[in-house]
Formats: sequence, C-alpha cells, structure tokens
Amino acid sequence: MKSHAKVVVIGGGVVGCSVLFHLARHGWTDVVLLERDELTSGSTWHAAGGMHTINGDPNVAKLQKYTISLYKEIEELSGQATGVHLTGGVLLAATEARLDWLRGVVAKGRYLGIDLEVISAKEAAELMPLLDPKQFVGAVRNKEDGHLDPSGVTHAYAKAARKLGAEVERFTKVEDIVRRPDGLWRVITNKGEVVAQHVVNAGGLWAREVGRMVGLELPVLAMEHMYLITEDMPEVAAWNAKTGTEIIHAVDFDGELYLRQERGGMLMGTYEKANKPWSEYQTPWNFGHELLAPDIDRIAPSLEVGFRHFPAFQNTGIKQIINGPFTFAPDGNPLVGPVRGLPGFWVACGVMAGFSQGGGVGLALSNWMIEGDPGADIWAMDVARYGDWATMAYTNAKVRENYSRRFSIRFPNEELPAGRPLKTTPVYDLLSAKGAQFGVAYGLEVPLWYAPEGVKDEFSWRRSSDFSHVAREVATVRDGVGLSEISSFAKYKVTGEGASAWLDRLLACKLPKPGRMTLAPMLKDDGRLIGDFTLANLGSDGWFLAGSGIAEQYHMRWFEAHLPGDGSVHIEALGAKLTGLAIAGPKAREVLAKVSRADVSNAAFPFMAVARMDIGMAPCLVGRVSYTGDLGYEIWVAPEYQRAAYHALTAAGAEFGIGLFGSRALNALRLEKNYGSWGREYRPIYGPLEAGLDRFVAYGKEADFIGKTAALAERKQGGKLRLRSFIVDADDADVIGDEPIWFGGAVRGWVTSGGYAHHSKKSVAVGYVPKEIADESDGFEIELLGKRHAARIQAAPLFDANFERMRG
Ligand SMILES: Cc1cc2nc3c(=O)[nH]c(=O)nc-3n(C[C@H](O)[C@H](O)[C@H](O)COP(=O)(O)OP(=O)(O)OC[C@H]3O[C@@H](n4cnc5c(N)ncnc54)[C@H](O)[C@@H]3O)c2cc1C
Repeated sequence: MKSHAKVVVIGGGVVGCSVLFHLARHGWTDVVLLERDELTSGSTWHAAGGMHTINGDPNVAKLQKYTISLYKEIEELSGQATGVHLTGGVLLAATEARLDWLRGVVAKGRYLGIDLEVISAKEAAELMPLLDPKQFVGAVRNKEDGHLDPSGVTHAYAKAARKLGAEVERFTKVEDIVRRPDGLWRVITNKGEVVAQHVVNAGGLWAREVGRMVGLELPVLAMEHMYLITEDMPEVAAWNAKTGTEIIHAVDFDGELYLRQERGGMLMGTYEKANKPWSEYQTPWNFGHELLAPDIDRIAPSLEVGFRHFPAFQNTGIKQIINGPFTFAPDGNPLVGPVRGLPGFWVACGVMAGFSQGGGVGLALSNWMIEGDPGADIWAMDVARYGDWATMAYTNAKVRENYSRRFSIRFPNEELPAGRPLKTTPVYDLLSAKGAQFGVAYGLEVPLWYAPEGVKDEFSWRRSSDFSHVAREVATVRDGVGLSEISSFAKYKVTGEGASAWLDRLLACKLPKPGRMTLAPMLKDDGRLIGDFTLANLGSDGWFLAGSGIAEQYHMRWFEAHLPGDGSVHIEALGAKLTGLAIAGPKAREVLAKVSRADVSNAAFPFMAVARMDIGMAPCLVGRVSYTGDLGYEIWVAPEYQRAAYHALTAAGAEFGIGLFGSRALNALRLEKNYGSWGREYRPIYGPLEAGLDRFVAYGKEADFIGKTAALAERKQGGKLRLRSFIVDADDADVIGDEPIWFGGAVRGWVTSGGYAHHSKKSVAVGYVPKEIADESDGFEIELLGKRHAARIQAAPLFDANFERMRG
C-alpha cells in the first residue's frame, strides 16, 4: 500500500467505487480506495439492482439520468459486465391524486429530457401483463427504467478506475483518521498509514463510524429492507416467449411496491409502514455478507395489496426473502460534499439508491474536489443542508417517516410531523395560541398561516382550506399592518479589523455606509450566485448579514473557507442567539413610532436605514426593509426579549388592527413585487444578470470581488437565461415550482416558484426562460396538473411598481 496519496476514498461499495472512477477519469490518478473486506461488503451486494430516472428533486433526477447513461461507458472501459437490462417501466396510479402527482412528474420530465408518457391502466396492462387494470386509474411509462447486477457495476467502476491509474486496497480497514498540523490527513489502517490531502467518507453502512473518527456525527441511519423472489411463473415464461422481452419494471405507489422480473420469476420489494431501523447507534464492524432474518408479518399488508394488484402472485410460491440494511439521510437524499470545518474531508454517503444515484454522486464530488465546484445544482444532496440540529434521535424519527412514506404523495401544503417540534422561538406558544400552523425550516418551527378554530390544511394540489385565511393575512398587511415571526433567516455577525476589506472581496455589492443596508449578492469564481444577503453596516459594531435560513451551514462553509488566515476577521452564525419579528404595511411606521423613542420618520429613518432602538423595553436592531415590498421593518432581538418586543408591538398595533401573517402570506406578497429568494430563484447555476440581481452588483467597484471577471463576462455576453414573473390563467390551482414553461409549442423554461398573489388577485409563476424569448410578453403557457394554461410576462411589479409605499 502506498504511503502517500492525493485522495483516500474509504469504502468499496458502489458509491466509493464511483467516486474513485470519477476522480481518475477527471485526471486525479494518485488516488486509492481502501476497503475493509472485499468490494461490495456493505449494502451494495444484496441490492435489488433497480434503477430509475425520476426523483422528487429535478436536479437529482438529472444526475440519476447521468448515472444510467454511464453504465455502457464503464462496461466498455473495464471489460466487466454490468448486467444492465433497460427494460423500461410503468409507474402505476391507483387514485386520481396519484395520477395528478404523476402528471407533475411527466411535466418535469419535459425540461429534464426524461421521456415520460401518461398512459391508461389498460395500456399499462398491455406493457406489464401481471397487473390487473381494474386496480389502477392510469400510469406513466418510463423507457429509462431497468435493473442491473450490483456487484458487476461496482467492480466495473473499480476496474475502470484502476485502468486509469487509481488503486484499490482490499482487506484494509481504516481505524482512525487524524488531521496533521500541516492540514494533511493521516489515514490509519490495520495495514499501516496513508497520508492524504483529501479523504472521502464513502463508508455506506459505516459512514457514521468513519465520520466519528473525525468528530462528525452524520445524520444517517440504516433501515431494514425486504424484497421477495418468487418461484418461476408460467405467466412470465409465456410473456417472454410471446414477446421475446422481459417483463418491464413496475412501481405500484399505492401498494408501496416495486417489481421486476428475476430470472423465470418476479422480484417484489416494499417500503413497509411498520419499518425497522437497523443498528441505530453503532454499526457492528463484523457485519458483512450476512442477511437479516426476514419478517413476513411486517410486509404482509403491502404484499396483500400486491397480490390483489398483480393476481398472478397468488398462484406462485416465494423462493426467497432478502432482508438487508441500507442507509438514509433524514430526507432520503444523499449526503455529499465538503464538510464545514474539516478542510479536505468529504462525504459521499446516505445514498439510498446507489444504482440510480451513485454515478451522479461520483461526478459531482469529483468535480467539486478537482474544480472547486460540483458543476451542477446539487443542493438537494449537499451535506450542508443539515446542521448540528439534525441529531441522532431527530435522524431516527425522520428516516423512519421518510422510509414509510417512500411511495406516498407529499402534497405541496403538507408538512410532515416526525421529529417536531425541535427548535422553537420564545413566541412559539403565543403564536400557537393564535392558530399558527407551522412548517419547518432548518429544524425551526416557522408559522405558515393562522387558522381559525377547527380549520386546518386539507392536503391538495389545488387551492385549499388556507386560501381565504391567507388572503385575509395579506389584506391585513396591505391595508393596515401585519406582524410576522422571521427568526428563520440566517443571521451573521462579522467583526474584526479586516472585516470591511473581506466583505468587499466576498460580496459583489458596494458596501453600505454606517447605518445603511444593501442587498448583497455573493458569487462563485464562475460568476454564478452562491448567496444573496441583506448586509447592514453597524459602524463600530461591525457588520450584520441576514440570508437564507436553510443555507446557514452552506454559507458558513463558504465564509470560513474564504477567511484570511491572519485572524483579522471573525464571523459568527447567530442562529437562535438572535430572533426576529417584522412589521409591514402602511401603518407600520405608526406602530413603530408608538413603541420606540427613536425618530422613525421617513427623513430620519429612510428605506434601507438600520439602527439600534428599544421596542418597548426590548433592545433591538431595526432595519427599514421588508420582503413584503411594503413599508416595513425587520426587528432583530435577543431571544430573551422577543416576547417583550412582541407584546409591545401587538399592543401598540391594536388601534391599527395589527394582525399576524405567516410565510404563505409573505409568499403572496413578495410575488407581486417580483422578489426572488435563495433556493428557489437564486441558485448556484444562475448568474446575477440571469437572475435579475445584476443591479446589486457593483461591477465597477475597486475591490476584486470573487467572480468579478466572470460576472463582467456574463454582462458582456448576456448570459443564457432570464428570470421572469408570469401571470397564469389558472383557475383552482397555482404553480408550486418545477412546472415546464411552454413557448411556441415547445418546453423552453421551468418554474422556480409561485402561488396566488391575493392582493392583486392573480396567479403568479416565477421562472427561467432563454433570454431570446424573455422579452416576449405573450405566447407562454405553463403546465399545471397536466393542462397547459396561458401565461404572460409581468415585467413591472403588480404592486407598488413605483416603490412609493416601500420608500415613502
Ligand atoms: C435489500 C436492498 C435492496 C436494495 N435495492 C436497491 C435497488 O433496487 N436500487 C438501488 O439503487 N439501490 C438499492 N439498494 C440500496 C443500495 O444497496 C445502496 O444505495 C448502496 O449499496 C449504497 O452503497 P454505498 O457504497 O454507499 O455503501 P455500502 O455498500 O455500504 O459500502 C460501504 C463500503 O465501505 C466499506 N467500509 C466502511 N467502513 C470502512 C472502513 N473503516 N475501512 C474500510 N472500508 C470501510 C464497507 O466494507 C463497504 O464495502 C438496496 C439495498 C438493500 C439492502
């Protein structure tokens, strides 16, 4: 074994081998994979080997499509068969709600280049002869589904990597990982030590244990999973003989089942409701090629549905039941990327669909390690989407919930209950008492809307039970004054003698003067967005940044990676140390004037001013800015004072009819101002010009800010896309995000978010289209629940287009 390597990859499952292959293919050949046993000694060997292109997240779906397209290449490169059978498949719907969901999947497929087609249940039965069409209302055909040989694929990755110069050391167990003072990693094994610049944790079932070697508690948990294999079935033989083809894949969502042909019989797997975690706290090192004892009672309810939906199963015997463990992150997507605070330590774990996702994970990670950027929008798999709040018990609750809902529909207005409440603010109970219906952002309970007694969300793709109540909250803001809880923003404090110069280089905006704020886009080297913040200059108190709450860890990882090494800049994520309230609406100033002795007149405290002031008895930091696009103030307050500030504001606002509003009303309000947000409109694949944030980029400022050269080039060349707001002729449903935008009879763009703008009484969609058609006002259509609706571009904001309310 070599003593030094550029990269050590820990784990020879399908994921580690894919990472090794991608690193080598990308040109890093001084790389070695360490496997404690034979390759495929974790969850990989007993997988059912199914592969699919669809995923709830369109960007993960793209990477799944890439993974499937890769198998031919690695087979040719390695000479190792992968056993790929591209049979195609049907996704079956037994209810209308499921068919609506599938129509959304088909629509997404249009701009992802995934060829999907809605078909009738009868047509599905013609493709998949074992199903009873009476049990279904429709289906979707996917030509890119199939299955493969798990061991063959893993070995093909490893052999192809070796041919490119990478090394694989089997029977080499990593026992400890130690960071040297010079930043290199000592990877200590039972056979000696390798010193490496980079370490990749692809430990699969042992990813937690490998993480713990460097003090990291990763939010992953293994679950037991069962599938059965039947005896040979005459129906299968007859179909094979008649058509000369295999029986295609089927996913029966309502039965929570997946099926495919396995030799002369069938394989049927299920994500059962009564699921069971495996090795909750510690994975035993002596586990390897064993299987777990099957528990037929646990899967019996799913099998009962399966036998009804696929009657031929009633007449066949079960040859074998496989029960094996594999790992999940709380939301079921992989954990990939560099780990904050551990330079050179990377993860590629929690991959629950290694044969659909392994290639994409390897590609993204190798790009990231070699180029400094994953090269795709992989937020849905980024390890930084979790923070310390994702504890072991939280992970356990969430993984179990996610497993049991693997094939369940999640409606756009559906909030999932497991692992909650975890983080709450001091006013949580006060807001609850007012009917707050909560959602979660980065583990924190966030009020979505306020329901009268006896009313709650009815889950639907269409406008639902909250509609009239959110409309009322919007009217409260636009007609008088509303109050909302805004602690879910991420808040950062930047101090130190080097802070100004550092921020000037990090952020693309012009730095504001003391007592002023500005919108601050943050760019990567390639000139694309990596953040958007509100930046406040607090004079001798340093700087304050507010940004996307879900991206706190993501942004801290970026900030810390760019800190100067001389200690002249200090940045702290304030998290729950700072909570927030906001007031907005034409009466907001009058409310503020009543609770504060500060002069808050427009002259003394204009738009984008920031100052410390007491709200009642509570010391606060107040910024005159509002995402509602109305006259408004964001109020930042230490948690111990948040209740006092809340009481002061609600008491002072009573005479103006102050009312509470939640994030759904805020969405309706910001839509009519054409405001975007991080994670939806602003993502690391768009440039500031494309995203409409170029007006906040100080292209001419002296500081050589990160991404300046590329941003200037984007401005010169015009980029490719434009973000636009559309008014949709919708009737009873509004866009959610990820719907295709049609123009001239073809899909030309995609929706990032939208909803109903209650004040303007318009259904609004926001999305990207190619710049060539971005100035066409008419001729667009947006596909909603399988139907195309006329849409037109709304260039000027629907509300307060001249900014009189906001700045007045
Ligand atoms: C019953 C079942 C059915 C499945 N069906 C499918 C399916 O149809 N389609 C699909 O895509 N996925 C399926 N999966 C999931 C799939 O198996 C996983 O997504 C995949 O195996 C994850 O691979 P991995 O490389 O991340 O982890 P693993 O396969 O667990 O590999 C990790 C490797 O790391 C090694 N290792 C760990 N720690 C160390 C250390 N300290 N030193 C050295 N080596 C170490 C282990 O020995 C192991 O070989 C199924 C899983 C099961 C259990």
